[in-house]
Amino acid sequence: MQIDLYLLNGSNEGDRELQLQTALTLLEEHFGKVTNASKLYETQAWGKEDQQSFYNQALHFQTDLQAEEALNICQQVEHQLGRERHEKWGSRIIDIDILFYGNQIIKSDRLTVPHRLLHLRNFALVPLEEIAADFIHPQFEINISDLLKNSTDQLKVVKLSDK
Ligand code: ATP
Ligand code: CA
Ligand code: CA
Repeated sequence: MQIDLYLLNGSNEGDRELQLQTALTLLEEHFGKVTNASKLYETQAWGKEDQQSFYNQALHFQTDLQAEEALNICQQVEHQLGRERHEKWGSRIIDIDILFYGNQIIKSDRLTVPHRLLHLRNFALVPLEEIAADFIHPQFEINISDLLKNSTDQLKVVKLSDK
């Protein structure tokens, strides 16, 4: 059965645009052609603000892989791009998070889906709204546009033109 998988990619080190592009190419080798991809958006770093701004992109794939297998792929691609684990919320050349795995609610040691901070982060909600405005969050039971309207996050998310 094909599941709607929504990912958020982020980068705030080195050539951010190139890293997002490379991550997408590598993800497609595993998940197949991306079904929908947002533009790139720039946001000041969230949580830890003394670092370069982030570029983010939301992606939609259809997959028949299990959620944990999808996480393995995300982590493998992070590794391939040379991500090293520094401090929590520190800078990173690539971060790939699972936002939604269909409408499933998952809480395991390795995986919390929907992403537990999605509704608090404009840098995730804004790109996601571009490709999935009407998608219903399975826990809050409202769509992405309404989550964004309700968001109390003050950080401004700017679309990079023509990326
Ligand atoms: P945040 O969760 O605040 O975005 P982060 O992305 O910086 O933080 P990481 O260091 O990249 O956190 O990941 C830490 C762990 O989070 C991973 O090893 C993974 O097992 C776990 N994890 C839990 N839920 C998810 C999810 N929905 N997507 C990706 N990783 C997740
Ligand atoms: Ca993250
Ligand atoms: Ca992550």
